[in-house]
This record gives sequence, C-alpha cells and structure tokens, in this order.
Amino acid sequence: MKSFEIPQQYRSQIISQIKAARKNEDPRKQDFTATELDFGPIRFLIARHFGFCYGVENAIEIAHKTIDENPGKRIFLLSEMIHNPVVNADLQERGINFIMDNYGSQLITWNEITSEDVVIIPAFGTTIDTERLLTEKGIDIVKYNTTCPFVERVWNKAATLGKDKFTVVIHGKAQHEETRATFSHTINNAPSVIVRNLDEAQFLCEVIIGIRKKEEFYSFFEEKYSPSFDVEKDLVKIGVVNQTTMLASETQAIANMLREALAKKHGKNDLSEHYADTRDTLCYATNDNQSATIALAQENADLAIVIGGYNSSNTSHLVELLEDKFPTYFVSGANKIISKKEIVHFNLHTRKEISTLEYLPESEQVTIAITSGASCPDSIVDAVLNRLLSFYDEKINLEGFSRK
Ligand code: SF4
Repeated sequence: MKSFEIPQQYRSQIISQIKAARKNEDPRKQDFTATELDFGPIRFLIARHFGFCYGVENAIEIAHKTIDENPGKRIFLLSEMIHNPVVNADLQERGINFIMDNYGSQLITWNEITSEDVVIIPAFGTTIDTERLLTEKGIDIVKYNTTCPFVERVWNKAATLGKDKFTVVIHGKAQHEETRATFSHTINNAPSVIVRNLDEAQFLCEVIIGIRKKEEFYSFFEEKYSPSFDVEKDLVKIGVVNQTTMLASETQAIANMLREALAKKHGKNDLSEHYADTRDTLCYATNDNQSATIALAQENADLAIVIGGYNSSNTSHLVELLEDKFPTYFVSGANKIISKKEIVHFNLHTRKEISTLEYLPESEQVTIAITSGASCPDSIVDAVLNRLLSFYDEKINLEGFSRK
C-alpha cells in the first residue's frame, strides 16, 4: 500500500517497530492475535491492527502539503479533517480554520469565503450542495480534496445500485459528515434511506412486509429518506451500503434482516431481483481493526484502554467490542491517565467524560488490552504505554516482545 508523508510527531518509536515486525511475520494479514509485551508487574496485549488508515494518512499528507504550498493564503477545512483532537489542533495551529462543525452548522459564514481562499475537503467527503457552492465561488474542489477513496467506493457502489433500479439503504449515523456526504451523492442516483441500527432496520423490515403502514415509515425516518421516496415502489428492490466505520457485524446483520424481509414478501425464488449483495462496501481498515479487536476481546486481561477522539465513530465501535468483556476506558491521550489510582475517560453511553478511581487492580501482574482508532497517531499510543509503565518504574524494552 502507498506510504505517505505525515508529520514526524505522529510517528512512533515503539508501535512502529511492533507493527513492522508483525507485518514482516504475517504480510497477508491472516493472524489477528494480539502482540504481548511483558514487563513483569505490567503486561500489555496490543491489538494486531489499529491506528492511522490509508484515508487518514492521505488526508493528513494533503492538508500539510496544502499549507506548505500556499504561504500567505487563507486555508480552510470544511470541517474537522478527521475525528482526532490532536491532529485537528495541529492543523489549526498551522493556521487552518474550520468552516463547519461536525454536524454541518456554520462556524464561518459562506460570505466570508472567497475565490482567493483554499478550501480542503476532509476525508469523509462532502455533500453535492457544498461542492456546488464552492465551485460557484470559484474554489477548486479537486486539488484539495482529501475524500478517502474507500468512501468514494461506497458512492460508486450506490450509483451502480441506482442504475440497476435498487433502492439504497445506508447503514450509518445520519448526522455524521460521511453519511451526510454519502446520502447526498446517493440520492442523485437512487431512492435512499438511512438506517442507524438493528432497531431501525427491524422497523424498515416491518414496513416491507406490511406490518407497518407507509405513514409510519415517513414519520419514523423523517429527514432520513430521499425526496419523493415512495414506500410502495421504493422498497421492492434493496441494496445496503454503509458509513465505512460502522460495526461490520451490524451492517451484515442489517443486510441479512432486509434480505429475509424481502424473501418473506416476494418469495425466495427470485430473491436476487429484490436484494443486491453488497458485502464489499466495508472499508479494509474498519474490517481489520474490528477483527483485531474481536481477537483482543478473547484474551484474558484485567482492563482495556482504547485511545482516540471521543467523536470518532470507528473508535467508539472498538470500545463497544471490548466493553462487554473488560472494564474498558476510552481516553483521548496519555494525559487522561492521571495516576496509578485515577483515569479520566469518555463514557459512550452518557457521552460524558468521567473519572474512575482504582482502575488498576492491585495484583502481582496487571494485564491491559490496548487498541486505538483509525484517526489516532501511534505516537499517542506510545505515550499511553510509557505513562502506564512509569507507574511501575518500567521502561520500554522491545527485545522481548512476542506474539500472543
Ligand atoms: S476508515 Fe476506511 S474509509 Fe475511513 S478514512 Fe480510513 S480507510 Fe478511508
């Protein structure tokens, strides 16, 4: 895979060596077992895959090159480049301003943006309306576009489904930048509806098989379906695509539920007329990171620490995968590990940062499962390891690391 130039401060001393060794051992990525680092009183189990993905490195490289190549120009990002506070703060420190927040609300009015400015499109992509608006202002939407090719692949898949007269069900979070962009591109080519989770998919299945009335569809999915969506005509042929960072198992379960509902409604014989198999819209990084986290959850550990931005969708799903098995602490950086006695972390369910005391058990050896999101620099994972080791007067020594 292509390698990118990213700022030195995101590179890691420790994790890069572990990743290189694992890649060397297993270039075809068939082994998802964790890497073990044993320091005596503290032992880490590090997921096989985590950290910066192709799309994130590509976006960071373009953004920093854009700054280098445009001295004296005002440079804007449509919204956060990726969902990591350190990466975004670094860009802001270099003079970049965000035009919108994560939900599409303006932080800077469009009137303030002129053809003299540079506007970077983030890795999530953007809506057709925003592309049009920028073009009308005379702003280049190609040169500084960091939309991840794996997101564009979803758009292309949705366009193909539309050409074949399928309605597109988008498994995603309606407010997320990527899903807003995917919805905007998809409705140009196909009737579309956004489904957040299994409960919403169940509701849609009940509409398909006729247990629920069409009026219920329109109120339940308000603002999540394409203009002129016709429940009677547009729920006969369906294909599923997803926000690339959703839980892979959930996308698959939603696709299976819809396939069964369509089979119930139209019979199994010509199901391919009604249901399009679209397994390939899951992004490689989401697949790898979630599979590695599932393998991590099968280990014996006292607790898990997941590192990433609190608004990062892919990181949240890694937390979900681990929290049934271990006490799991979602932290944005090493500074959240206050001491051996206290950790400050994000509670996904209340969406609040909280403090937990006595998070490290008093035992002869503490085992900690570690992973991070696709937008988290490996240097932050290094810092977390070093912070934890400092409580035991240990220092990183990579000579003895082994595959679990
Ligand atoms: S998680 Fe996947 S789709 Fe998203 S930026 Fe990374 S590679 Fe692209």
